[in-house]
Amino acid sequence: SMMFDPYSIRQEFPILQQPAYEHELTYLDNAATTQKPSRVLERILGYYQTANANVHRGAHFLSDRATSQFEQARQTVERFIHAPENGQVIWTKGTTEAINTVAYGIEHLIDPDDEILISSLEHHANLVPWQQLSFRTGARLRIIPFTSDGKWQAEYANYFSDRTKIVACTQVSNAIGVQLPIKEVIQHAKNVGAMTLIDGAQAIAHYPVSVSELDCDFYVFSGHKMYGPTGIGVLYGKTDALESLLPCQTGGEMVLHVTYQATEFNILPYRLEAGTPNIEGALGLAAACDFLQQHDQEAVLKWEQSLAEKAYSILENTTDIEIFSPKKHSTLISLSVKNTHIMDLNGYLDSKGIAVRGGSHCAHPLMAQLGVSGTLRASFACYNTMEEAEHFANTLLEAIELLQED
Ligand code: PMP
Repeated sequence: SMMFDPYSIRQEFPILQQPAYEHELTYLDNAATTQKPSRVLERILGYYQTANANVHRGAHFLSDRATSQFEQARQTVERFIHAPENGQVIWTKGTTEAINTVAYGIEHLIDPDDEILISSLEHHANLVPWQQLSFRTGARLRIIPFTSDGKWQAEYANYFSDRTKIVACTQVSNAIGVQLPIKEVIQHAKNVGAMTLIDGAQAIAHYPVSVSELDCDFYVFSGHKMYGPTGIGVLYGKTDALESLLPCQTGGEMVLHVTYQATEFNILPYRLEAGTPNIEGALGLAAACDFLQQHDQEAVLKWEQSLAEKAYSILENTTDIEIFSPKKHSTLISLSVKNTHIMDLNGYLDSKGIAVRGGSHCAHPLMAQLGVSGTLRASFACYNTMEEAEHFANTLLEAIELLQED
């Protein structure tokens, strides 16, 4: 509801207390990465101050402490996404590594006759690994042509066939903020016996996620976009789906027994976690889950959507502005301006302390579909205020006026 108070949440984010140049910092690049609350920072520092050791050794006091905190963090994340069983969360360094783990891991299951299905709204991270997999195997990469408002027509169901091996689809577009009908996508995939991977990178900070309700085979996301640290992310998988993956990285931790002739791999989740893991990252991510759960997620989402809608309504009647994100139910606004370079607008906003992102948002094919080389994106988080949304929109109008004069 509108009773939500971003000012008290802001107090938890030390980085927001500083100026940018001589202005107040207005951080609206949250779809790229969010800022971190004190409890995440303290969790990381606390780990190094009281528990640092290598994990899974059972060798000494600190090692046991680190191992138990590390495994507790895994359970926190499993509960956060409602994983049906323990051990279904694999730590990765982010969404990108999680998708690559699946794209390499299923290669041995792919035949040249098979098809790999993605949507036309994907980030390069959920496109290039599938394209490269298709190059390596001869399988055909097919693209479901979603409209830029996230709609698909009934005939798109024809993309699903008994040749479809895996369907990979984003839950929310990072570039234009629309939500895709992932429940429908998952259902169509299941009807033809295909595996499913949902890219939750842009959803996880905003929407309650239940992987058991979604019933997808894989769900992936990054810690840094949900108030957690960089360098940590999650590959959730159903147990049989994870078991079907060949480890693309081998080495220590992921083995039970090694001879020169052969290696016996460890059980899940360790089998897919070669090498010393990012322990402090896992702990920081668990602290971020706690942070999100301690606030009313529904109220936060409504607030973020109201900020994007406010910016939208200030900008929608300016003739030269084309807005690509939906007015309602989006936590970001993404737009282009006729006869004006995105990067000039980006630069002007930056000079006023307003952090936004201008560019192609790692989605070149989607930009081609929209007929632009890039967009300007302001993306909102729990700590953003209504004043910030208005300040962004009004400063953008000022920039357009100035830039179009000369
Ligand atoms: N998918 C989507 C939808 C994203 O927004 C991003 C990050 N911009 C990624 C994948 C890649 O995430 P990361 O760079 O953290 O691996």
